[in-house]
Amino acid sequence: MIRKIAILTSGGDAPGMNACLRACIRAGLYQGKEMYVVYDGLRGLVEGDIRQVNKDFTQDIINRGGTIIRSARIPEFKEEAVSKKAADNLRDFEIDALIGIGGDGTFRGLQALSKHGVICIGIPGTIDNDVGSTDETIGFATALNTICDCVDKLKDTSGSHQRCSLIEVMGRHCGDLAMFAALAEGAEGVICVEHPLKKEVLFRKLRKMKAQNKSHAIIIVSENLLDINELAGEIAKETGFDTRTEVLGRLQRGGSPTAHDRILAARFGAKAVELLCDKEPTSRIVGIKQNEIVDYPIDEAVEMKHRHTHGLRDLIDMLQ
Ligand code: ATP
Repeated sequence: MIRKIAILTSGGDAPGMNACLRACIRAGLYQGKEMYVVYDGLRGLVEGDIRQVNKDFTQDIINRGGTIIRSARIPEFKEEAVSKKAADNLRDFEIDALIGIGGDGTFRGLQALSKHGVICIGIPGTIDNDVGSTDETIGFATALNTICDCVDKLKDTSGSHQRCSLIEVMGRHCGDLAMFAALAEGAEGVICVEHPLKKEVLFRKLRKMKAQNKSHAIIIVSENLLDINELAGEIAKETGFDTRTEVLGRLQRGGSPTAHDRILAARFGAKAVELLCDKEPTSRIVGIKQNEIVDYPIDEAVEMKHRHTHGLRDLIDMLQ
């Protein structure tokens, strides 16, 4: 039987991680477990920064952005000796199971720990929404709202100056943030892995808008795909639009989680503890599919590919 459970947050921070931490701790205490937190993610686990917590620890954190137990990246965790050291530290504290809140990379780290005999539960928390074993990750909805807030403001100034704005958003391998934002903002264009740039199509459209004296154009671009300043120069030259670029950057990670993310965090946290209350718990990843909370064996979950949102792409094309 699991008696002691530790929790960590790892990878890029995401709004709602604190709400999930709260849910895990409270659900665990409710089930009579001793609850621990690990500071600084997997790095803290290797360094042995593990502390017992009680219910007071979870007060007033449900609405806080970031992660109060911090996150860190430790590439060396891929080395077996390093993950073994982390597993040994958990054993020294007589901790029976670990809950990790993070993305794909974090789940690989948990998988490595599970090979050393640690029972691990992974909870998807990343703004990119790029985890295959879930339709949605904690933090995605909040980051999307943040992007929409920024784009709304940019539209005001873009319209006042008849500009084209190229707005770079996060999501290097997954265009969900870009595509959902484009749909929510009625953007004139979106460029991401699932919806690559077709220059001539874009230029033609912008030339037509310019000829019709439209007040502004908004193009959402995923990070690391192209040089947006170079593209802005080409757009200005080819279409006559005064074109500006905005990189939203880490701003997208911050802020108080939306109610949606807090509720998702609560559902995931409660499920993680429920799985650890099984008679014979195993290492698993929690997710949500068609609004049902689901869980998969960790080895299966890490191989699942994120379902690219083809339906969304068609919708964007139809409504542009
Ligand atoms: P996000 O996508 O939001 O940044 P993430 O969890 O995918 O979240 P990563 O930086 O990819 O973030 O991974 C977090 C940590 O997981 C890494 O710093 C590393 O310690 C560990 N990790 C990543 N990949 C592996 C792997 N293949 N094997 C073991 N550990 C890994």
